[in-house]
Amino acid sequence: MSGFIDSVDVTFESGRGGDGSASFHREKFVPRGGPNGADGGKGGDVVLVADRNKRTLYDFKLDDHLRAQDGTKAMMNKRGKDGTDCMVLLPIGTIITDRETGEVIADLNHDGMKVVICEGGRGGQGNVHFTNSVRQAPTFAQKGGPTMTRVCHLELKLLADVALIGLPNAGKSTLLSRMSAAKPKIADYPFTTLSPNLGVVKVADRTFVMADLPGLIEGASEGIGLGHQFLKHAERNRILLHLVEAFPLDGSAPIDNFQTIEAELEQYSQELYALPRIVALTKCDLTYDESALDEVAATFGDLELFRISAVSGRGMEDLGRTLLDAIDKEIEERPVKLVPVLKPKLEERYEVSRDRDGRFRVKGRRVEQLVAMTDLTNLEAVMYLHRMLQRIGVVQQLRELGVDDGDEVVVGNFSFTYQD
Ligand code: GDP
Ligand code: MG
Repeated sequence: MSGFIDSVDVTFESGRGGDGSASFHREKFVPRGGPNGADGGKGGDVVLVADRNKRTLYDFKLDDHLRAQDGTKAMMNKRGKDGTDCMVLLPIGTIITDRETGEVIADLNHDGMKVVICEGGRGGQGNVHFTNSVRQAPTFAQKGGPTMTRVCHLELKLLADVALIGLPNAGKSTLLSRMSAAKPKIADYPFTTLSPNLGVVKVADRTFVMADLPGLIEGASEGIGLGHQFLKHAERNRILLHLVEAFPLDGSAPIDNFQTIEAELEQYSQELYALPRIVALTKCDLTYDESALDEVAATFGDLELFRISAVSGRGMEDLGRTLLDAIDKEIEERPVKLVPVLKPKLEERYEVSRDRDGRFRVKGRRVEQLVAMTDLTNLEAVMYLHRMLQRIGVVQQLRELGVDDGDEVVVGNFSFTYQD
């Protein structure tokens, strides 16, 4: 099974913001111009886009680190350029989980759906923004905002409306090829022989996707055989079509065969088991005696059974229409949940703590970003940062924890010596 790619880990990284500039008007005959430093460009976002033309996650095996472009820095009074976003095309049905937190970030469930997964760093502000009544010629500008990196787990579950289940030999493959008007292109899927067999079924002017899941056999729920691997793909199905041979060659009772598969399914996944079921007796062409079929049907009690034959074509149209109606009903009752476009918010909260070794630690995305965006070699900029931290309340909290001049304060990747 190696190489069967339906899940993969990928690192996404947004672009860094460009630095703002600290510059001043220079004009002939004007001895000292005012500040005119422009802003840096914004770093590119990483945007996930559901695209119906994508069928696999195979591309990510070749490249599992995707990065948006950095914003460029401002040059004097010229604004920096924004970095280009990194658009990542993914098959519909891809579920994206944060590797670190295990949280589901997005569920790409319809064509064109977009999710900003990593926001680009903000462009640093030029020195024009930092003038005030006492500071008319600020010599500092803000550095560009840092990148945001997320390691994500991508998982693709193929979407099908109807999944065929039944014992081997029940007639699943034959029915699928008989009912299929077309085969979706799955040629770019590695290991095509192992992938679920999909078919587009046409009923009047409508179509739906039917999947033959190879290997739903006894023991599948314990991971024996291929069943386990493939049942995973069936979880997004809306309807299960359970095929039961009317006259099994081995003389087994159809009702027993039916129950074997149902028990297997119940054990494997309650979610799948709860799906609406349509049951059909297959290979009905093997007898001319309708009462023989009545007898078989009677062992199923009240359960409605379709009598079909992929060979003679019996019951095909009726079954097609019934499946389509059932799908429509399901869509109405269980509409696909639309996840709103997510924008990871800058974390406003922060935490101030004191380590055993006496160091103070400030954690929080916004605070860390503020520090990262400060030119720490410029005293004015550091003073500005200090005032910002004061305004947010960080300084107050440090004092409450007993910070003293000379103590070490760690914010993100930076470490300072505290000075009031
Ligand atoms: P699967 O294992 O469930 O995919 O079953 P297949 O579709 O491979 O069918 C198993 C066997 O039953 C094959 O030899 C088919 O030719 C045969 N078969 C399938 N459907 C019919 C049918 O409607 N009538 C008859 N007489 N034989 C069928
Ligand atoms: Mg088969």
